[in-house]
Amino acid sequence: MSDFPKNIARKAVLNMKAYSARGGATDALHLDANENPYAPPPVIGAKNYNRYPEQQPPALVARLAGLYGVSTDMVMVGRGADEGIEILLRTFCESEDNILICPPTFGYYRTCAEIQGCGIVEAPLNDDFSWNHEAIFAAADAAQNLKAIFICTPNNPSGNECDADLVEALAKRYPDTFIAVDEAYQEFTTTPSYTVKIAEYPNIIVMRTLSKAYALAGVRGGVAIADPRVIDLMLKVLPPYPIARPVEEAILKALAPSAMSVHADRLAETLEQRDRLAAALPSSPFVKKVYPSAANFLLMELSDDAALFAELAKRNVKIRDYRATTGKVRLSIGSPEENTIALAAFGINQTDAKTDRIGEVFRKTNETDISVRVNLDDSRVVKINTGIGFYDHMLEQIAKHGGMGLTMTCKGDLEIDAHHSVEDTALAFGTALKQALGNKAGIGRYGFTMPMDETQARVAIDLSGRPAAVFKGKFPTDHVGEFPVEMCPHFFESLAQTLGAAIHIDVEGDNSHHMIEACFKGVGRALRPALSTTISMDIPSTKGVL
Ligand SMILES: *Cc1c(COP(=O)(O)O)cnc(C)c1O
Repeated sequence: MSDFPKNIARKAVLNMKAYSARGGATDALHLDANENPYAPPPVIGAKNYNRYPEQQPPALVARLAGLYGVSTDMVMVGRGADEGIEILLRTFCESEDNILICPPTFGYYRTCAEIQGCGIVEAPLNDDFSWNHEAIFAAADAAQNLKAIFICTPNNPSGNECDADLVEALAKRYPDTFIAVDEAYQEFTTTPSYTVKIAEYPNIIVMRTLSKAYALAGVRGGVAIADPRVIDLMLKVLPPYPIARPVEEAILKALAPSAMSVHADRLAETLEQRDRLAAALPSSPFVKKVYPSAANFLLMELSDDAALFAELAKRNVKIRDYRATTGKVRLSIGSPEENTIALAAFGINQTDAKTDRIGEVFRKTNETDISVRVNLDDSRVVKINTGIGFYDHMLEQIAKHGGMGLTMTCKGDLEIDAHHSVEDTALAFGTALKQALGNKAGIGRYGFTMPMDETQARVAIDLSGRPAAVFKGKFPTDHVGEFPVEMCPHFFESLAQTLGAAIHIDVEGDNSHHMIEACFKGVGRALRPALSTTISMDIPSTKGVL
């Protein structure tokens, strides 16, 4: 055990010298890797595309270690979680070795074992898809040279999670066998990751992916998380330069700190849609049973599969067909609109179903890094963080009075002043609103008069597609908190520019705070009828009462 993991590694891997890939381009004159001195033509100026990337790009490793809450020496970044599975077997499995799987489960464990030429031992799940502990222990006890036990939790395709004590019990009983915990769907559950157990059990290895919760399946990115000694050995086996430069760039952009609030909103929506489908599908004439799921899909047993597949074909909807192996089908959770189409194929018509007119904008410059998500059909979530307290409060007023959901994160150069942050968030907000309105933009003119104590603001808005901003009013002070009052008219000017609207504001009063607040509320009020397709029963105040 003291020698773990060398005692169970392939001898060839232990004895070989790692292929020496250069550790990325430096500021030296690189005439060492037979690279081309010129950037490839269509992407001239692209960051070093003519140069080999780092074997494990440090910025990416740091970001993913941060994302998963582990140290950087516990991470191997690869082309998806799939590569972690493959490299684990290539590092540790000889032909006389075995792995253990619990079918029905993710098919790639078997594929990798077959390619590697090692044996496969099975301990099938119970009929209700719970893990059969006795069968797992019996099979593991009997297996020769058992190198890995794969536990996929939540399991694909059944969607359920293993019992809380299983992984640890296996790790304890089989110290010279990897307990490979595939957490491809971990984000969709509330169960904590098994990464926290690695310090105590160095034979636990966890696979995570960016393909599911972070919408990066087309980019290929995932990690194996393990004891640093395990990672060291696996890195000897990982092929040269697995992470292409554009891949690293795409992942770092998609996981920018400012984007995380949008990921959280999307995840919440997926979980809500999972509940919606799980509640509706049992009443489908084609469905016998819907299994509970802790992932972003639902497994179902059908009562009339021919009729269902005919309906799906009519609508050109594809679901995963496991009828041959388990007699079941798997449906991935889509967007609200996609799920309405899927439900119709299942014979459930939700014509009044929620639709989401959503606009999302990610905007990064040298001065600001911004993400905005507006939802014109769901006003429940309003989460704003620009670093400027008063401005956050004003944006909340627009969202609340406009009857929209608004998530905005801005990391800006506030050490200089609020100017760039306010201007750039206004531009991004206008773009997101326009995107969410889609082809309904330019439908009308709206006005609102907003009195507030001694102040009155009159607002008129025309979603004409033509930007114009007119602001009349003089503020008695030059700041409210850290917010420079001159940024109030500038905000509406920037918003008008990207939204494609004429915004006219006329404000009178003696108190800058009241005056600015009245402008933001008034604009929200004038926007509300322009944006809404239904009468909202919300109380139009951020205080929740009027
Ligand atoms: C989707 C999936 C993977 C693959 O993840 P990638 O990062 O895309 O390679 C791994 N394991 C399970 C259980 C999956 O469902």
